[in-house]
Amino acid sequence: MSDLLEISQLGDPILRRQAQPIENVHDEHIQKLIDRLIFTAGKANGVGIAAPQVAESYRLFIVASRPTIRYPNAPVMEPTAILNPQIIAHSAEVVKDWEGCLSIPGIRGLVPRYQAIEVEYTTRDGKLCRQTLSDFVARIFQHEFDHLNGIVFVDRVESTLEIVTEQEYQKLIV
Ligand code: ZN
Repeated sequence: MSDLLEISQLGDPILRRQAQPIENVHDEHIQKLIDRLIFTAGKANGVGIAAPQVAESYRLFIVASRPTIRYPNAPVMEPTAILNPQIIAHSAEVVKDWEGCLSIPGIRGLVPRYQAIEVEYTTRDGKLCRQTLSDFVARIFQHEFDHLNGIVFVDRVESTLEIVTEQEYQKLIV
C-alpha cells in the first residue's frame, strides 16, 4: 500500500465538517495516519496538512515548515504532529500574508492571522504540550486548525481582489 494519501479538493463535504477529537493517540490507525500525512505533505511540497484533507475527520494536523518554492523564507523545523489542538490566547496584532492550500490548487490569497498564538495540543507520544508560536509557524497552525472546524483560507480572505493564481503569485514573490 502506498503511503501517499489522496488529498480532498474544495467542494468535497469532508472539508466542511467538524472533525472528531482523538481519544487514543496510541491507536495504530492514528500513528500510521500521522506517518502518511507527513509523507504526503513532503511529496506535495506542503508546509502543513490536516487529517480532514485526506478524508480522515480527526482533530489532527502536521506542521512542517521549511523553505519551498512557495515560501522561500520559511523556517526549518521537523514535521510535527499536533493532536486535539486548542488556541488558548492570541496577540492583538493581526498580520496579512499569502496562503495556499493543497485542497485548493492553483489559488493563493491574502489571509489575516494573529501574529502570535498560545497553543495547547497532544504530541504523537501522548504528551500535553503548551507553546507560544509566532509569525509563519503561527500562520500554519491557524490555517490547519481551521481545517478541523470546516473552514478554508478563502473563507478568511477580506476581498476577492486579494485572491490570485499561483502563476501570478510567483511573480509577486520574486
Ligand atoms: Zn489547507
